[in-house]
Amino acid sequence: MPGRAELSALHAKVAAFEGVVEAGQSTFLQCRRGCDGCCRTARSAWAVEIDHLRTYLDTLPPDRLAALRARRGTPAVVAGERCVFLDDDGGCAAYAARPIICRTHGPAVRTPDDTLSWCGLNFVGLGPEAVAAAVPAASIINLALLDSMLALINARYVAHAGGEARAPLTAALQG
Ligand code: SF4
Repeated sequence: MPGRAELSALHAKVAAFEGVVEAGQSTFLQCRRGCDGCCRTARSAWAVEIDHLRTYLDTLPPDRLAALRARRGTPAVVAGERCVFLDDDGGCAAYAARPIICRTHGPAVRTPDDTLSWCGLNFVGLGPEAVAAAVPAASIINLALLDSMLALINARYVAHAGGEARAPLTAALQG
Protein backbone atom coordinates (compact mmCIF):
# COMPACT_ATOMS: atom_id res chain seq x y z
CA MET A 1 0.00 0.00 0.00
CA PRO A 2 1.50 3.36 -1.00
CA GLY A 3 2.47 5.48 1.98
CA ARG A 4 3.23 2.69 4.43
CA ALA A 5 6.95 2.37 3.66
CA GLU A 6 7.33 6.14 3.49
CA LEU A 7 5.76 6.50 6.95
CA SER A 8 8.17 3.94 8.39
CA ALA A 9 11.05 5.84 6.80
CA LEU A 10 9.78 9.08 8.35
CA HIS A 11 9.56 7.37 11.75
CA ALA A 12 13.19 6.33 11.34
CA LYS A 13 14.23 9.90 10.49
CA VAL A 14 12.45 11.29 13.53
CA ALA A 15 14.02 8.60 15.72
CA ALA A 16 17.46 9.42 14.35
CA PHE A 17 16.89 13.09 15.08
CA GLU A 18 16.06 12.31 18.72
CA GLY A 19 19.77 12.10 19.40
CA VAL A 20 20.26 15.62 18.05
CA VAL A 21 17.39 16.89 20.20
CA GLU A 22 18.77 15.09 23.24
CA ALA A 23 22.24 16.53 22.69
CA GLY A 24 20.95 20.07 22.28
CA GLN A 25 18.13 20.18 24.82
CA SER A 26 18.54 17.44 27.45
CA THR A 27 19.65 19.92 30.12
CA PHE A 28 16.18 21.45 30.06
CA LEU A 29 13.99 18.34 29.56
CA GLN A 30 12.10 16.42 32.23
CA CYS A 31 10.58 13.93 29.74
CA ARG A 32 10.66 10.32 31.01
CA ARG A 33 8.53 7.20 30.96
CA GLY A 34 5.50 7.69 33.17
CA CYS A 35 5.26 11.43 32.54
CA ASP A 36 1.99 11.31 30.64
CA GLY A 37 0.78 14.90 30.45
CA CYS A 38 1.02 14.82 26.65
CA CYS A 39 -1.34 11.82 26.60
CA ARG A 40 -4.10 13.20 28.78
CA THR A 41 -6.18 14.32 25.86
CA ALA A 42 -7.89 12.74 22.86
CA ARG A 43 -5.65 12.66 19.81
CA SER A 44 -6.20 12.22 16.11
CA ALA A 45 -3.81 11.15 13.37
CA TRP A 46 -3.49 10.89 9.62
CA ALA A 47 -5.17 7.89 7.97
CA VAL A 48 -1.82 6.30 7.11
CA GLU A 49 -0.86 6.50 10.78
CA ILE A 50 -4.15 4.88 11.81
CA ASP A 51 -3.38 2.08 9.34
CA HIS A 52 0.10 1.73 10.87
CA LEU A 53 -1.41 1.54 14.35
CA ARG A 54 -3.91 -1.13 13.22
CA THR A 55 -1.12 -3.25 11.77
CA TYR A 56 0.74 -3.01 15.09
CA LEU A 57 -2.33 -3.75 17.17
CA ASP A 58 -2.95 -6.91 15.14
CA THR A 59 0.33 -8.26 16.58
CA LEU A 60 -0.86 -7.94 20.19
CA PRO A 61 -2.23 -10.88 22.18
CA PRO A 62 -6.02 -11.08 21.74
CA ASP A 63 -6.76 -10.35 25.40
CA ARG A 64 -4.57 -7.21 25.33
CA LEU A 65 -6.30 -6.01 22.18
CA ALA A 66 -9.71 -6.71 23.69
CA ALA A 67 -8.78 -4.72 26.79
CA LEU A 68 -7.70 -1.77 24.64
CA ARG A 69 -10.92 -1.93 22.67
CA ALA A 70 -12.90 -1.91 25.90
CA ARG A 71 -11.14 1.32 26.92
CA ARG A 72 -12.99 3.21 24.19
CA GLY A 73 -16.05 3.26 26.43
CA THR A 74 -14.35 4.43 29.61
CA PRO A 75 -15.49 7.85 30.87
CA ALA A 76 -12.07 9.57 30.58
CA VAL A 77 -11.59 8.41 26.97
CA VAL A 78 -15.16 9.27 25.99
CA ALA A 79 -14.71 12.72 27.56
CA GLY A 80 -11.45 13.25 25.66
CA GLU A 81 -9.45 13.47 28.89
CA ARG A 82 -6.95 10.74 28.04
CA CYS A 83 -5.69 8.89 25.01
CA VAL A 84 -7.13 5.42 24.59
CA PHE A 85 -3.58 3.98 24.47
CA LEU A 86 -2.39 5.53 27.74
CA ASP A 87 -1.69 2.74 30.23
CA ASP A 88 -2.22 3.28 33.94
CA ASP A 89 1.56 3.26 34.55
CA GLY A 90 1.99 6.21 32.17
CA GLY A 91 3.27 4.05 29.31
CA CYS A 92 1.88 3.92 25.81
CA ALA A 93 0.20 0.68 24.72
CA ALA A 94 1.04 1.50 21.11
CA TYR A 95 4.47 3.08 21.64
CA ALA A 96 6.18 1.36 18.71
CA ALA A 97 3.48 2.57 16.33
CA ARG A 98 2.54 5.90 17.90
CA PRO A 99 1.79 8.79 15.53
CA ILE A 100 4.34 11.42 14.58
CA ILE A 101 2.72 14.00 16.86
CA CYS A 102 3.50 11.76 19.85
CA ARG A 103 7.14 11.55 18.75
CA THR A 104 7.62 15.32 18.92
CA HIS A 105 6.04 16.08 22.29
CA GLY A 106 8.12 17.67 25.00
CA PRO A 107 11.20 19.39 23.56
CA ALA A 108 11.25 22.78 21.92
CA VAL A 109 9.78 22.65 18.42
CA ARG A 110 9.17 25.34 15.82
CA THR A 111 5.44 25.48 15.09
CA PRO A 112 3.88 26.17 11.67
CA ASP A 113 3.23 29.77 12.75
CA ASP A 114 6.98 30.11 13.34
CA THR A 115 6.95 30.28 17.12
CA LEU A 116 8.76 28.06 19.60
CA SER A 117 6.66 25.68 21.68
CA TRP A 118 7.50 23.06 24.32
CA CYS A 119 5.92 21.11 27.17
CA GLY A 120 5.40 23.38 30.16
CA LEU A 121 7.28 20.91 32.38
CA ASN A 122 10.44 21.60 30.38
CA PHE A 123 12.51 24.79 30.13
CA VAL A 124 11.16 25.84 33.52
CA GLY A 125 11.23 29.60 33.96
CA LEU A 126 12.42 30.30 30.41
CA GLY A 127 10.59 32.24 27.72
CA PRO A 128 10.90 31.88 23.95
CA GLU A 129 13.91 34.20 23.61
CA ALA A 130 15.79 32.44 26.40
CA VAL A 131 15.01 29.02 24.93
CA ALA A 132 16.11 30.14 21.46
CA ALA A 133 19.36 31.39 22.94
CA ALA A 134 19.92 28.27 25.06
CA VAL A 135 19.51 25.50 22.52
CA PRO A 136 21.10 24.98 19.09
CA ALA A 137 18.66 25.87 16.30
CA ALA A 138 19.62 22.60 14.61
CA SER A 139 18.10 20.65 17.50
CA ILE A 140 14.66 22.21 17.06
CA ILE A 141 12.19 20.18 15.00
CA ASN A 142 10.40 22.16 12.30
CA LEU A 143 6.80 21.02 12.56
CA ALA A 144 5.71 22.70 9.33
CA LEU A 145 8.27 20.65 7.41
CA LEU A 146 7.39 17.46 9.24
CA ASP A 147 3.66 18.04 8.74
CA SER A 148 4.11 18.69 5.03
CA MET A 149 6.05 15.43 4.58
CA LEU A 150 3.39 13.55 6.52
CA ALA A 151 0.58 15.14 4.51
CA LEU A 152 2.24 14.05 1.24
CA ILE A 153 2.66 10.51 2.53
CA ASN A 154 -0.94 10.45 3.66
CA ALA A 155 -2.19 11.76 0.31
CA ARG A 156 -0.49 8.82 -1.42
CA TYR A 157 -2.09 6.43 1.05
CA VAL A 158 -5.61 7.91 0.83
CA ALA A 159 -5.48 8.02 -2.98
CA HIS A 160 -5.30 4.21 -2.91
CA ALA A 161 -7.09 3.28 0.32
CA GLY A 162 -9.82 5.93 0.24
CA GLY A 163 -11.53 7.18 3.38
CA GLU A 164 -11.01 10.25 5.51
CA ALA A 165 -7.66 12.04 5.75
CA ARG A 166 -7.63 12.04 9.55
CA ALA A 167 -9.36 10.09 12.30
CA PRO A 168 -9.31 9.83 16.10
CA LEU A 169 -6.82 7.29 17.45
CA THR A 170 -9.75 5.20 18.67
CA ALA A 171 -10.42 4.40 14.99
CA ALA A 172 -7.37 2.12 15.05
CA LEU A 173 -9.25 -0.12 17.51
CA GLN A 174 -12.29 -0.72 15.36
CA GLY A 175 -12.76 -4.47 14.94
S1 SF4 B 1 -0.60 7.17 21.27
FE1 SF4 B 1 0.69 6.81 23.06
S2 SF4 B 1 2.16 8.52 23.09
FE2 SF4 B 1 0.44 9.13 21.74
S3 SF4 B 1 -1.01 10.28 23.04
FE3 SF4 B 1 -1.64 8.10 23.04
S4 SF4 B 1 -0.65 7.17 24.85
FE4 SF4 B 1 0.40 9.11 24.40
